[in-house]
Amino acid sequence: MSAPPGNLPARDFEEIRLAEALERGRCPVCDARQESTYAALRGLAREGATDRSLRADMDKGVGFCQPHSVGLSKMELLQTSSQLATAVLLDAVLRRRLATLKKLSGADSGAQGRALAGLADPKCPVCTRSAEASRAAVSRLMALSADPAWSAALGSGEICLSDLYGLWAAAADGPKEVHARWSQILASQLARLEGLQTTLAEYAHNSTSDRRHLITPEQHAAGAASIRLFGGTPDRDRAR
Ligand SMILES: [Zn+2]
Ligand SMILES: [Zn+2]
Repeated sequence: MSAPPGNLPARDFEEIRLAEALERGRCPVCDARQESTYAALRGLAREGATDRSLRADMDKGVGFCQPHSVGLSKMELLQTSSQLATAVLLDAVLRRRLATLKKLSGADSGAQGRALAGLADPKCPVCTRSAEASRAAVSRLMALSADPAWSAALGSGEICLSDLYGLWAAAADGPKEVHARWSQILASQLARLEGLQTTLAEYAHNSTSDRRHLITPEQHAAGAASIRLFGGTPDRDRAR
């Protein structure tokens, strides 16, 4: 693992957050997504049950995905020790879903298939917010990479694989100079991943019971880093 970059120049709150994430060994895009998810769930737990525009959106089919249904209930429990607002919101979603499903049971099979495919997308407002935060972070990082300190930090920082793909795609889609800057950053990232893979292979090699005593702290750390690479940066502990 490389040394944390430290003291990246940042002009506003968003940039400070992105810098902090990189400096703390967190994927900056995961971090931005988690922050907006947290804010959205907190808002829903506080005001969702009385939010008229949310009710109007629900009439248009807005609901909650599985993780955010659970996330909402956990957030509300954390904040108010109750899950009443969650119940109010889920009741509103269920009522509309039931009406749709009842109507559907009388339709022909082709219409049923199409309608069920449509229902597979829960039209979750928390997912929408989180996707917006992701896009905003990616486009901000494209611009920040013009700064040499940021460029170096992005080359050596822990970026999860899924967000690395997203950044790469944005760079490939961007103007020539952005693409050129990111070619350097991505080359550093690939070297980082190559080092990680080598250490991970050594760790895996030492996994048998007769070799387990040979495992080094670095190999152990590579195991944890590989989970973050594929699973994304774990959520920050906000239950303080
Ligand atoms: Zn990430
Ligand atoms: Zn969702």
